[in-house]
Amino acid sequence: MQINTHLQQLPGNYLFTEIANRTQAYQAAHPSARILRLGIGDVNRPLPAAISDAMHRAVDELTRVETFRGYGPENGYDWLRQAIVDYDYTSRGIHLSPEEVFISDGAGSDLGNLSELFDTANSVAILDPSYPAYVDTSRMAGREIIFLPCVAEHNFRPELPARKADIIYLCFPNNPTGTVLTRKELAAWVDYARANHSIILFDAAYEAFIEDPDVPHSIYEIDGAQEVAIEIRSYSKSAGFTAVRCGYTVVPKATGLQAMWRRRQCTKFNGASYISQRAALATYTAEGKAGLSANLNYYKQTARLLMDGLQDLGYRVYGGKNAPYIWCETSNKMDSWQFFDFLLNSCQVVCAPGVGFGEAGQGFVRFSAFSNRDDCHEALRRLQSL
Ligand SMILES: *Cc1c(COP(=O)(O)O)cnc(C)c1O
Repeated sequence: MQINTHLQQLPGNYLFTEIANRTQAYQAAHPSARILRLGIGDVNRPLPAAISDAMHRAVDELTRVETFRGYGPENGYDWLRQAIVDYDYTSRGIHLSPEEVFISDGAGSDLGNLSELFDTANSVAILDPSYPAYVDTSRMAGREIIFLPCVAEHNFRPELPARKADIIYLCFPNNPTGTVLTRKELAAWVDYARANHSIILFDAAYEAFIEDPDVPHSIYEIDGAQEVAIEIRSYSKSAGFTAVRCGYTVVPKATGLQAMWRRRQCTKFNGASYISQRAALATYTAEGKAGLSANLNYYKQTARLLMDGLQDLGYRVYGGKNAPYIWCETSNKMDSWQFFDFLLNSCQVVCAPGVGFGEAGQGFVRFSAFSNRDDCHEALRRLQSL
């Protein structure tokens, strides 16, 4: 037996462990300090009643012999796949069929699993900074990575790869920078993929935060994208499902990959939970939508508060609009971790150091609209009195 050395040699998840370690060490040394956590990447608003009711009903069905269910379809129930087509795509003028929609237990699994469709010799282009899963899964497979630096001079928009990239991970609205692309900007990537026979894996986890009409909600709003793009979506951030677990991946027939992905999923995935899928369906009801939009508005207001507050204090901030993350330049040219330590020690505020998302994130930190509202107010007060 020989182990996968790529996996063995993968560095530990340094970012979040290190944040936790430094925060705990500070708390241990200052037991009475009230630490304010503003770097969180997880939702905190409770589920609307329409969604929890749907889950309760699903559980009750499983307790009665007449309505009990066993395994569901590997790729998801038809009623959910159809609702996704109707509400998330047809409503935006995009034509997809339910067979092109694959229900998942969240985006995390598919973001890595999709790479099984491609030869390991394929190169992967990944934004720097980025959500760590793209880099880690590509490294586990031993793939060559082409980093695409996203820098302030280009408003954190990546430039097209200088050499041919076979697989391209894009994430817009972006985690961690909060950057979005206009239709025209995204079209350049679709053109690149068509010209180079590349495939785009488009992570649209933050689609629900988009407000500008110029910003596409789906990559399929771009002509020709169905031939070169797979779209990965999740109810995690849009509906507060990080615990419930449900998402979906669109693999259009035009990519030539739809049958392969179905084959792969039917072997390696036995479907998302019936209860989660009923919860996902409830997000499309009038009551579900109302509850969720109240939650989204709450996060958007928190983003606004943080953006304006930091800006008023003289910080240079990006993102925060169309996205729940605020990308903030450190003061006095501190590096990301120096600034993290400075905020922790001087005002007990915890952020997410930008360099943890990639080399190009050096000199920045991420603040999150998923932070407690009162803690944001208090953090801004403490920063002001520095
Ligand atoms: C949170 C997040 C996801 C969602 O992951 P799930 O597995 O669906 O919870 C996907 N992509 C990005 C960039 C995220 O930040």
